Amino acid sequence: MTRFSFDLTATDGAARTGVIHTPRGEVRTPAFMPVGTAATVKAMLPGSVRETGADILLGNTYHLMLRPTAERIDRLGGLHRFMNWDRPILTDSGGFQVMSLAELRKLTEEGVTFRSHIDGSRHTLTPERSMEIQRLLGSDIVMAFDECPALPAERDRIAASMRLSMRWAQRSRDAFGDRPGHALFGIQQGGLEPDLRAESAEALRGIGFDGYAVGGLAVGEGQEAMFGVLDYAPGQLPEDKPRYLMGVGKPDDIVGAVRRGIDMMDCVLPSRSGRTGQAFTRRGVVNIRNARHADDPRPLDEACACPACRGYSRAYLHHVSRAKEIIASMLMTWHNLHYYQELMAGMRDAIAAGSFDAWEAEFHATRALGDIDPI
Ligand SMILES: [Zn+2]
Repeated sequence: MTRFSFDLTATDGAARTGVIHTPRGEVRTPAFMPVGTAATVKAMLPGSVRETGADILLGNTYHLMLRPTAERIDRLGGLHRFMNWDRPILTDSGGFQVMSLAELRKLTEEGVTFRSHIDGSRHTLTPERSMEIQRLLGSDIVMAFDECPALPAERDRIAASMRLSMRWAQRSRDAFGDRPGHALFGIQQGGLEPDLRAESAEALRGIGFDGYAVGGLAVGEGQEAMFGVLDYAPGQLPEDKPRYLMGVGKPDDIVGAVRRGIDMMDCVLPSRSGRTGQAFTRRGVVNIRNARHADDPRPLDEACACPACRGYSRAYLHHVSRAKEIIASMLMTWHNLHYYQELMAGMRDAIAAGSFDAWEAEFHATRALGDIDPI
């Protein structure tokens, strides 16, 4: 049986490329993980997600524990079988979404009690319960249960929260146990404070994980502050393990994170934006609902090989998006996920070739051109 492992195959400056091996297949890094919140990447069939180039999906513990419940998914053969995706799945711990979505939260040393945002039912999440839920789901990469304060926050609050998360990281490790082929990732906290980040990294290294996330970013601090942390935080984590930046981001966030040594990312942006008529292209964001596209027979991006660009005009996408037809969500999501995966592939190739600087300059120069001129 394949064990979980990570091979770093090339570096270029701080940027890295490699392969994560799992029993369910390989994940090429840097990797972008589409978000399948409720056991579906909205508007996409699993086979279509794979066709965009995705090696791995993310599932949300908080949503799945409430509906349809981890126990039901387990009885039905696990999340892979349930949603018909046989490749790797990473699940978050539920901690972040409890804090952002649930009602009447109460945080103690033991864990978090809350009421469901769906039906008001009472639930408790602890490190032990989060590990149990992620095991029932059959997740390949399990995230430690942590707590993440929104930024900006007082240093004392960030320090106390980070130390609580490190105690929970140890409890997560103990509860996870020994599960060959499955990985447990620890999550570094510490806000924007270098010494707290170092303390957190040291605690996680002491416990020992299969991978490490830089947590507590993309929570309202802005790109400059995020890059400021990424200038040093990945270097505080073990070099021979994957590094995951949670919940990021826009294309230029992703490129900047990879430049700074991040290997994995996830974000709802390409799928969510697709459903609201926003397309990510090499030349920046296009709002397909704008009137300028109504008579435009050209594709969204003539260089894109996705079904939306091969088979449909901007005028058609404009029409179905404005008319709120279901195919608009399908085509726009497909295009956006395809764009994100092409972005990752471009970076992997550039890092392997030792030409990341040139690739990045071209990325920014093409975006600076802006969208093609109206017809
Ligand atoms: Zn396309």
